[in-house]
Amino acid sequence: MEKIMGYCVKCRKMSEMTEGKEKKTSNGRTMMQGPCKKCGTTISKFMAGEKKEKEDKDDKKEKKERK
Ligand SMILES: [Zn+2]
Repeated sequence: MEKIMGYCVKCRKMSEMTEGKEKKTSNGRTMMQGPCKKCGTTISKFMAGEKKEKEDKDDKKEKKERK
């Protein structure tokens, strides 16, 4: 099975996501979403063509929601 790695905001590092699902964002990007294998937090991973800034932005958003 293919492993999908994404940045987990809870583990604060790259982590493997289980049951990653492909999602289309409103601006036409493709992303994978799935629970972190270690802690269960939903990890979002943008697929090829992603912009790093965008990922950082999402990171901050998730941290905020966690509070
Ligand atoms: Zn985690």
